[in-house]
Amino acid sequence: MRLHAATAHDLGLGRTNNEDSWYAGQRLVAVADGVGGQPAGEVASDLVVEALKPLDADTGGDSLAALTEAVLAANEAVRDAAGSDPDHDGMATTVTALLLTGEELALVHVGDSRAYRLRDGELEQLSTDHTYVQMLVDRGAITREEAWHHPQRSVVTRVVPADPLRPQAERLTPRAGDRYLLCSDGLSDVVSDEAITEALTNHDDPQAGADQLVKLALQGGAPDNVTVIVADLDAESVGG
Ligand code: MG
Repeated sequence: MRLHAATAHDLGLGRTNNEDSWYAGQRLVAVADGVGGQPAGEVASDLVVEALKPLDADTGGDSLAALTEAVLAANEAVRDAAGSDPDHDGMATTVTALLLTGEELALVHVGDSRAYRLRDGELEQLSTDHTYVQMLVDRGAITREEAWHHPQRSVVTRVVPADPLRPQAERLTPRAGDRYLLCSDGLSDVVSDEAITEALTNHDDPQAGADQLVKLALQGGAPDNVTVIVADLDAESVGG
């Protein structure tokens, strides 16, 4: 199996700089969102994505172990960079990544970027938001719908770097025909799951789907950077 991925990005209407970083290959897809309000968010997100990129060339092995190890190494890299340059002190980022090796697919995630899977027309959020409002949802204090409108919905409870870093790390069961979506909160804060499902269902071509999602975010006001990766899982051989 391999991933057939397309990306779309926009600065959004409320930002003049880009703090999102991303990578879309045949085995690895990743989104990292430099935390707003922190210095050098774009440096942190770029460091993480650069640290993960070599995984795309890797073949075989345990995808979850490899991806987790790479995220932990990225955590160290961001922490070291933040500690060695006063301009970078306090920088932080989210990371959400999928790695395919052979027939194995792994998810590693920290923060409020998201991974979704569209299978048989149904959208499922694979990543769990590390946010204050998600914690309230988990406790049953508010509904998912209330979280969407909550004034503190942008409060993120886990970021890279952290000591210790506690990522969500999961083995998924991939199936040919699955469509995966990775996005920064610039999409998911603005575009509903229903609208995401519709856009992904109505466009066979991953690029067209990704472009449509960014368009919907812009129509919704796009206060933040918007990054979208749409990755289809094909049964084709990678050839090596
Ligand atoms: Mg963002």
